[in-house]
Amino acid sequence: NSHDAPERITVLGATGSVGQNTLDLIARMPERFAVEAVTANSNVDALADIAIRFDARFAAVADPACYEPLKAALSGTGVEAAAGPGALVEAALRPADRIMAAIVGAAGLAPTLAAAERGATILLANKECLVTAGPLFMRTAKAGGARVLPVDSEHSAIFQALDPALSRCVERVTLTASGGPFRTWSMERLAAVTPQEAVRHPNWSMGAKISVDSATLMNKGLELIEAHHLFDIESERLDVLVHPESIIHGFVAYQDGSVVAQMAEPDMRTPIAYSLAWPERIPAPTARLDLAALGRLTFEAPDSQRFPALRLTRYALETGGGTATVLNAANEIAVASFLTKRIGFPDIAKIVENGLDRSATERVGEPYSLDDALALDEWARDVALSMIPERLEQVS
Ligand code: NAD
Ligand code: MG
Repeated sequence: NSHDAPERITVLGATGSVGQNTLDLIARMPERFAVEAVTANSNVDALADIAIRFDARFAAVADPACYEPLKAALSGTGVEAAAGPGALVEAALRPADRIMAAIVGAAGLAPTLAAAERGATILLANKECLVTAGPLFMRTAKAGGARVLPVDSEHSAIFQALDPALSRCVERVTLTASGGPFRTWSMERLAAVTPQEAVRHPNWSMGAKISVDSATLMNKGLELIEAHHLFDIESERLDVLVHPESIIHGFVAYQDGSVVAQMAEPDMRTPIAYSLAWPERIPAPTARLDLAALGRLTFEAPDSQRFPALRLTRYALETGGGTATVLNAANEIAVASFLTKRIGFPDIAKIVENGLDRSATERVGEPYSLDDALALDEWARDVALSMIPERLEQVS
């Protein structure tokens, strides 16, 4: 593979944690990568700075009210400015060689689905997109001829350990979980957890939403659903194993008793580099694994008593239909409400469980189109909001 012209990369969610890590790698290999388009929610200054620094062709903010400020910040630079939901889709439709899907939440569904439809090579960090509309997303990617490369560290590990020609011979697939900052906390202590405590992850530095999801173990539950869709493996063969050191990221167990695992220091630049270079590899400036210095790796079973999210996501995965869409939307509302101190930490699981109960009585069906998915997402957000003490109007 000769790299005459640099590969053009679009970064959706460029101002976020995954977006920044992606740009860090791109900046180190200017002869190999160039930036096509970048997007953000509303942080105009950070987005304009990125667009200029990387000489992007197109920059889009989700918030339409940010159009004028973005245009002003980019005037005279040659970067085209755009705003609003349509602008995110436009960014995704531009002819980039690879597109990093790193928007957080169901807000990433429309642009990522647009990229799938045009047959893009999608580096998928936005797991909520697979949770809220997994069958639709995978079907669209297949029909469009898109390639989906996982960015989530556990899924990258499994992707590296899973030989597609041997998928018939796979017995079990295991996702590891750090256990989050409250792994050893009692129910009583969990009741009083603050947002500041919840976003302080022991091993990974990440955005606020996924950090809270890691603290509730909802993140691991969302990842079970993500793995089910990415690798076409049923719930019964998917396991979660708590591994507090976050060195082994995933295991694939074959029928002959072999277990193939992937290891790395917990730094997202390793799985991101893999997705940027696949099927090749590129250097990543991460700490090197030193097992002798670590001395030991430990493992334990997850506790679904203190962390009910795992049970709720299993239920959604096994029930199918629109259950996972509802779970995701309820969780997004609950996490946003927890971060703004409207509800307590244990209420997050209660709000999600209530959403699942309602989805069972209403028998919500699987969304077959983007509009279906967005309508069900909206309904589930309303159900969840009705449980929040002080009703929130603006939660995206
Ligand atoms: P983040 O909060 O740091 O960044 C999110 C990005 O999305 C920002 O650029 C933000 O401007 C944009 N955004 C937010 N709301 C938006 C909206 N309504 N419309 C359009 N854009 C919006 O999040 P993150 O930690 O980088 O996570 C991004 C995704 O990657 C999530 O789905 C997360 O689960 C997944 N992921 C993250 C990590 C990690 O290390 N951070 C690891 C694995 C998977
Ligand atoms: Mg992960």
